[in-house]
Amino acid sequence: MKALKNQSSRENWYDWKWQLKHAITSIEEVEKLLKTDFSKEFGEDFRDKLEKTVDIFPLSITPYYFSLIDQKDFINDPVFRQAFPDVRELDICTSDIEDPLGEDKDSPVEGLTHRYPDRVLFHVSNRCAMYCRHCTRKRKVGDTDYCPSLKDYESAIAYIEEHVEVRDVLLSGGDPFLLPDELIGSLLDRLANIKHVEVIRIGTRTPVVLPFRITEALVDILKKHKNLWINTHYNHPKELTKDSIRAIDKLVEAGIPMGNQSVLLSDINDCPQVMKALVRKLVANRIRPYYLYQCDLSEGLEHFRTSVGRGIEIMESLRGHTSGFAIPTYVIDAPGGGGKIPVMPNYLISWSTNKIILRNYEGVITTYTEPRAYGHRDCDLDCAACDLHMKTSLDDPYEATGIEQLLSDYTDVMTLTPEEIKA
Ligand SMILES: *Cc1c(COP(=O)(O)O)cnc(C)c1O
Ligand code: SF4
Repeated sequence: MKALKNQSSRENWYDWKWQLKHAITSIEEVEKLLKTDFSKEFGEDFRDKLEKTVDIFPLSITPYYFSLIDQKDFINDPVFRQAFPDVRELDICTSDIEDPLGEDKDSPVEGLTHRYPDRVLFHVSNRCAMYCRHCTRKRKVGDTDYCPSLKDYESAIAYIEEHVEVRDVLLSGGDPFLLPDELIGSLLDRLANIKHVEVIRIGTRTPVVLPFRITEALVDILKKHKNLWINTHYNHPKELTKDSIRAIDKLVEAGIPMGNQSVLLSDINDCPQVMKALVRKLVANRIRPYYLYQCDLSEGLEHFRTSVGRGIEIMESLRGHTSGFAIPTYVIDAPGGGGKIPVMPNYLISWSTNKIILRNYEGVITTYTEPRAYGHRDCDLDCAACDLHMKTSLDDPYEATGIEQLLSDYTDVMTLTPEEIKA
């Protein structure tokens, strides 16, 4: 990949705007850089299909990320596989859904998804530094029709201002860090001015695919916000390069807590050893593994999907085998807008009135004895009169929802009945 670097002066290489301007966007460029010819190697038909794939789902790889590809064995390289189209993306299978997470359905205003009671997802950008082939929002990223306008920002911010229950705002996209510094700064300032917003999160893949985006100027803007968290998206230990770690160091040294969300991907990271290496490397660099996602039912992702069993097997190989805080929560984002559902191995084997039976990671079966004196706990939501001394007042009347409602004593709800059988 020397050719790539030589094409830039050393300084340009570290300039994120240069990297974006010189993104690799055609099959031809890839062939040149990898010194290969896909029609010769795999036939004309295959190459045509590659072109077709790129027509539907654009190809864009930063020279930096491209330079991580192992040229000698690119076909099996985890970076190549995340970045380069696969003709199987054209296979739409019966279970595929265009908007698998029902984000449009839960969208009160353009660009905002409000699914959970106290937090919203705010799509502030439709661009990404690199178009991940496994992206859930494949149909939207890179789609110019979906570019959020200043007017969209205004209505989204107005919605957040009006909804006092929103205490956590997640900036997502596309990638928020593809916006200019000034815009990021003003969005953060606007949100900081909303009293009920306690936490702001940014989801970005730039530390992985364009680490030079993390400039001193950007960090200066970010570090003004003490309630800001950043989640990034590493899928493989080889992505934690020196340059990438340098970017993470800047963010961590500015006091920003870092998390990571990975996607479980067939033939890329669906291996207990790869995952263990990844989470260890993440925590060694002060990034806390947050979620491991089961791959969604988006169109053209079938070939990336693993069985859920593989995911549970990987979780089994982590818990107990490595530091607890290096273990992400494995989740399935329920199709149709059900939200994230954690799945994990079963550790609770059985229980009786007095004891519960557990098993540990080694297969040791053990017991925990319940306390004798723990009786009923009745709650009528009268926090002022409660012995527990809840010092912060609940501003709004509290309303339990979901399973919490079934467990509570202060509602009469005894069953949750699916719409389909309510009749
Ligand atoms: C993932 C997600 C969130 C955040 O969920 P957490 O579990 O709090 O990280 C919020 N809104 C939507 C629509 C999401 O998909
Ligand atoms: S960075 Fe995120 S939003 Fe962008 S293409 Fe990759 S997975 Fe999709």
